[in-house]
Amino acid sequence: MTERLVLVGNGMAGVRTLEELLKLAPEKYAVTVFGDEPYANYNRILLSPVLAGDKTIDEICLNGRDWYENNGIELRTGTAVAEIDRGGRRIIAADGTTADYDRLILATGSRPVRLPIPGADLPGVVTFRDIADVEAMTEASAKHDRAVVIGGGLLGLEAAHGLRERGMEVTVVHIADHLMERQLDAPAGRMLQQSMAERGIRFELPATTEAILGEEAATGIRLNDGRELDAGLVVMAAGIRPNTGLAESSGIYCERGILVGDTMQTFDPRIWAVGECVQHRGATYGLVAPLFDQAKVAANHLAEAGTARYEGSVTSTKLKVSGIDLFSAGDFHGGADSEAMVLADAAGGVYKKLVIEENRIAGAVLFGDTIDGSWYFQLMRDGTDISELRDQLLFGQAHLGDAGHGEGNRVAAMADDVEICGCNGVSKADIVQAIGDKGLFTLEDVRAHTKASSSCGSCTGLVESLLASTVGEGYETTPAKKALCGCTEYSHDEVRAAIRDHALKSIPEVMHFLEWGSEDGCNKCRPALNYYLLCAWPGEYADDPASRFVNERAHANIQKDGTYSVVPRIWGGVTSPAQLRAIAEVAEKYEVPTVKFTGGQRVDLLGVAKENLPQVWADLAAHGFVSGHAYGKAVRTVKTCVGQEWCRFGVQDSTSLGIELEHMAWGAWTPHKVKLAVSGCPRNCAESTVKDVGVVAVESGWEIHVAGNGGTKVRACDFLTRVDTADQVKEHTAAFLQLYREQAHYLERTAHWVERVGLAPIRERVVDDGDARAALAERFWYAQSFAQVDPWRQHAESADQRPYIPLKEVAG
Ligand SMILES: Cc1cc2nc3c(=O)[nH]c(=O)nc-3n(C[C@H](O)[C@H](O)[C@H](O)COP(=O)(O)OP(=O)(O)OC[C@H]3O[C@@H](n4cnc5c(N)ncnc54)[C@H](O)[C@@H]3O)c2cc1C
Ligand code: SF4
Repeated sequence: MTERLVLVGNGMAGVRTLEELLKLAPEKYAVTVFGDEPYANYNRILLSPVLAGDKTIDEICLNGRDWYENNGIELRTGTAVAEIDRGGRRIIAADGTTADYDRLILATGSRPVRLPIPGADLPGVVTFRDIADVEAMTEASAKHDRAVVIGGGLLGLEAAHGLRERGMEVTVVHIADHLMERQLDAPAGRMLQQSMAERGIRFELPATTEAILGEEAATGIRLNDGRELDAGLVVMAAGIRPNTGLAESSGIYCERGILVGDTMQTFDPRIWAVGECVQHRGATYGLVAPLFDQAKVAANHLAEAGTARYEGSVTSTKLKVSGIDLFSAGDFHGGADSEAMVLADAAGGVYKKLVIEENRIAGAVLFGDTIDGSWYFQLMRDGTDISELRDQLLFGQAHLGDAGHGEGNRVAAMADDVEICGCNGVSKADIVQAIGDKGLFTLEDVRAHTKASSSCGSCTGLVESLLASTVGEGYETTPAKKALCGCTEYSHDEVRAAIRDHALKSIPEVMHFLEWGSEDGCNKCRPALNYYLLCAWPGEYADDPASRFVNERAHANIQKDGTYSVVPRIWGGVTSPAQLRAIAEVAEKYEVPTVKFTGGQRVDLLGVAKENLPQVWADLAAHGFVSGHAYGKAVRTVKTCVGQEWCRFGVQDSTSLGIELEHMAWGAWTPHKVKLAVSGCPRNCAESTVKDVGVVAVESGWEIHVAGNGGTKVRACDFLTRVDTADQVKEHTAAFLQLYREQAHYLERTAHWVERVGLAPIRERVVDDGDARAALAERFWYAQSFAQVDPWRQHAESADQRPYIPLKEVAG
C-alpha cells in the first residue's frame, strides 16, 4: 500500500527533498504539502533581485502548481500547520483541516528576528523574508522617500541596495564597527562600505537603534546617541531564528533548532526535518547549499534507498549586489596558530586574504576579484596541502606555474570538480557534461538541466563563461543540426554512426546508403568520408588518394610558387651530424634554394620542384628518414626540450619520452593536424601547454595537458591528468588521440572538439576508466600497425612516377 508522506513547509529545503525523493522512489508515497504562504515553491534567494527590480515574482518560481499536479502531490497553500498529533500520526492545520501521515517532514525554515524595541510593531516596519515583505517594501518605496535598514549583514545590505535601486534614500544602521562582520574582516568590510556608499547608501556604524518613532506608522528611528533619522520605511534585518515552534509544541526535542541526526531524522523516527529549522551536530545553517545536501540525505532515507549520512557543511557567502564582488568562507580571522596572506590594492578596489593553518586554507575573504573564490573554497574543503602553491596562491589559479592559462581562460583553467554553483552544489564537470551530453546552448538550458545559476545567480557569469568556452561560437544560438556538406542532410556524427553501425566500407557505399545528393560528393565530404572510413576500418579500407587535398596527395606542401616543401621527420627534434650531412647533400644535389628550421624542430627543404620529389624522398629514405607529414591532417611533430640529461632544471628525461611518443604516434591520420610536445620541467621550454597533447615533467612524474593550439586564436591546454611513468603517458596519449580520432568531426582541431563535447566525458574515458582507456589505446595501436608505412618510400619505389612528372611530358 502507498504510504502517506506529509511535508510541512513549502520552501526551498522541503521541496528539494521531494524533488530528490521523486528521483529515487516516485511511486512510494502519496504526498501532501502544507505551506503557510499563498504561493507555490519559489526561490527565496532571488527576493533580493526582485526587490531591486531586476526580476519579477514569476521569474523566481521554482516549481509551479502544475509541477505538484504532474507529480500527484497535493498542495495546500495558505495553510499553516498548527499541531502534530504524533500518537495519531496526523497533522492539524490552523483552519481545522487534517492529514494523516506515515512519515512527516518538517521544513519550516526560519523566522526573521524582530528587535524588542519600542515601535517594532508599527506599520511601516518590515522584515525581509518572503514575497509579502518584498511587496510591502515595494509599496512603501512608492510612497516614501527615506528608508532605514537595521542590520549591515548580507540581507540588510541586499535590502538597502534594492530600495536604493527603487529610488529611496537609504541609511543602514549597524551595530558593529564594520559591515558583515560575521563574513568579513575589517579591511574588506570597509571596502564594501565604501563601494556601497558610492552607490548612494549612507551608513551609521557602530550604532544601535533604540526605538522606532511614530504614532500610527513608523516615521523614523532614534539611535542610542539620541540622534533621530527620518524614515517612512524601517527594514529589520537583524538576523534569523530557526522556526521550531510547531516541533516544540508537539514534543519534538529542540535546542536552537530541531535536533536531527546524520539521517536527518528527529527524535521521533517517523519525523524528518531539513532546512534552516534544524540543528545538526550543534550547527544551524542560513544558506541553501547545506540545506540541499540535507535534502539529498533525507530523501535517500525516505526512499529506503541506502545509508547516506549528512555530516555537516562548510559554507561560503557571496553578496548579490550587482557590481560588488565579494566572497567569504571559513575562519577568516585566524588565530594564534594561523598566518594570513593578504593582497590589498585599495586603489584597484581589490582585497584578498587567505588564512592558512598547517599549510591548509582555513578561511578566505575576497573583495573586488572573486573569480578564485570557488578554487580557494575547494582547496579549503578538500584540506589540500598548499605548500607547493604558496608563492602563487594569492594571485589565483590562472597564475599557477607556467601552465600559460590566459586571462580569458580562467574558467577553463578551473579543475573539473570545482563547485561553480555553491547554492546547488553543481561542479564545473557537471555543467560541462550536461552541455555536452544534452546539447545545451543557452544559460536557460543549463539552469533547467543542472540548476546551476538558478538560485542566488552569483555564479551566472561563470556559467556563461563555461558555456562560451564549451560550445564556443554556438553559445546562445539555438542548435540546428549541421549537415556535413551540401550533398547530404546528415551531420558528421550521423554519417560516422552509419559507417559504423551499417558496416559501410567504401565512399560509394556510404553515399548510396545515405542517399547522397550528388553522385561523386564534393571537396568537403570526400576527404571527410575518406578519413571516417580509414578511422573506422583500419587495415580494411583502402585509402582513396583522389579524396585527399592536394598536399596529402603529393605528400608535400605546395608553396606559392608551385614548388614543394619537404620536411623529413626528426624524432623528438633530435638529429645527428650524419643526418644533417644527408640533408645538406640532398639540398645541394637538388639545388634546394632554402633550408630552414621549422617551429617544430625540424629542417624544411623549401623550393623542391615537383618532378624531383620522388628522388628527394628516395635519397632521404636511403639515409633513414621518413615523412614528417608536415602536409597532412595527421600527427606532425613531437617537440622536446633537452630535459634532465642536459638541463640543470630538468626533472625527467623529456627528450627520450618525446622520441618514444613520436615513434608511437607518427603516421596516424587524424581529423586535423596534431602536434605534441614534452617539457622536462614546469618551465615548459617546449611550449607543451599550447599543443594538442602537451606533456610537462614534474618531480613526481608527468602532467598531461590537452587541446591547446597556437595560431590566430591561442588556446592554452586543459590539464588532463598527472601520471607516474612514461608508459602511462604513452597509454593516455594513445587513448586521447584515439578518442579524438573517433569523435571529432573532420577538420576539427582537438581544441574545438574538447570545447564542443566538454573535457569531463573525455577525462572519464581517458583518465578515470582504466578499461576504457586501455581499449582506446589498443584501437590506436592496432590502427597504427597499418598506418606506419612511410608514404615517401612507397612513392619513391612505385613504378608509376607519372603523378610527379609535369603534365607536358606525360602528354608528349
Ligand atoms: C532575501 C533573502 C536572500 C537570501 N540570499 C541567499 C543567498 O544569496 N544564498 C543563500 O545560500 N541563501 C540565501 N538566503 C537564505 C535562503 O533563502 C534560505 O537558506 C532558504 O530559503 C531556507 O530554506 P528552508 O526551506 O529551510 O526555509 P524557507 O525557504 O523559509 O521555507 C520554509 C517555509 O515553511 C513555511 N512554514 C513555516 N512554518 C509553517 C507551518 N507551521 N505550516 C506551514 N508552513 C510553514 C514558511 O512560510 C516557508 O514558506 C536568502 C534569504 C533571503 C530571505
Ligand atoms: S623545460 Fe625545464 S628541463 Fe626543459 S629545457 Fe626548460 S628548464 Fe630545462
